[in-house]
Amino acid sequence: MNNRGLQDLIPVVNKLHDVFSRLGRPCPINLPQIAVVGGQSAGKSSVLESFVGKDFLPRGAGICTRRPLILQMYYQSGEEYGKFLHTKEKKYYNFEDIRKEIEAETDRVTGKNKNISPLPINLSIYSPNVLNLTLIDLPGLTKVAIGGQPRDIEKQINDMIMDFITKENCLILAVSPANIDLANSDALKMAKLVDPQGLRTIGVLTKLDLMDQGTDAREILTNQFLPLRRGYVGVVNRSQKEIDGKKGIQAALEAEMAFFRAHPAYRDLNNVGTKRLQCVLNQQLTNHIRDSLPDLKKALEDEIEKLEEECEQYKGLMFSASELRSIHYLFFKAQREYDEHQLRKEIATAVLN
Ligand code: GDP
Ligand code: MG
Repeated sequence: MNNRGLQDLIPVVNKLHDVFSRLGRPCPINLPQIAVVGGQSAGKSSVLESFVGKDFLPRGAGICTRRPLILQMYYQSGEEYGKFLHTKEKKYYNFEDIRKEIEAETDRVTGKNKNISPLPINLSIYSPNVLNLTLIDLPGLTKVAIGGQPRDIEKQINDMIMDFITKENCLILAVSPANIDLANSDALKMAKLVDPQGLRTIGVLTKLDLMDQGTDAREILTNQFLPLRRGYVGVVNRSQKEIDGKKGIQAALEAEMAFFRAHPAYRDLNNVGTKRLQCVLNQQLTNHIRDSLPDLKKALEDEIEKLEEECEQYKGLMFSASELRSIHYLFFKAQREYDEHQLRKEIATAVLN
């Protein structure tokens, strides 16, 4: 397959995501995908928003992501808008409305009391600023339930994340803040359970700007400390103060590059920056889908075979052409008798009057 053909692989798998989501149940086939995992406030939403270049994810205290969000990004020149699977053809040009719709659609299934649900929301973003990429945003690992939330919320979230990342076909984007000890990272701890050799985990280190003076994450970024086969990418997102001050994402991306270029520990590294992370993920997902194609094809064929067998069983319940004809005839006869009956009744009433 040539490169152009390869770039089309992500949209093809997206179609499968949509088809299965429309059925309203979890996907029966293990689609190659990237799931974003990390502790609460690790910087997951910030990373996704930087990819799109817009603020569009629910923010605030507590658990904001309460249903998996399958975020499909499509590169296209010209217009920039979002579309939800559940609102069909409606185009959202205002990204604030996208945020509201995610919140409303989350509540529609989970209820208002901050519960969670494994039923995904599918959002597609079409934009000249994105690369073809699909990421699944999952609830952050949390330690404390807040008012109204079930007490076992931590276990529920844990189970939901596990459901996704246990599947061999799922790449794990493990987001960890650089200002805590990496050995304590919720994301890496979880990834390690299902991917002990670190074969399908991609490390993302956020908050590099918040590390203690005199310390840096060079050892991690050069893959010497807690190495992963797919390595780490370092990023700097907006701080809360910058978000509150309405700093735009474009300005933040420029500041990020300036930070890395000026930093003696990072300036010679090429695996830093949000743009770099976007490219790495686009390549890794594309290659991953290419490598999974034979198994995916087999799984789809098995599914078709299963459906055909089910159809075979229903055939026994169906009518043959001649049976259908006699049923039609009986209906026809009944209708005629009924009409005649009505007519006789009308004549009788007329005569009596
Ligand atoms: P999530 O809970 O993992 O989705 O985390 P968020 O993306 O919502 O980020 C949590 C908080 O950390 C927000 O206030 C962000 O502004 C802040 N934050 C995230 N990444 C960075 C970073 O790289 N540097 C700084 N200074 N703050 C960050
Ligand atoms: Mg978040």
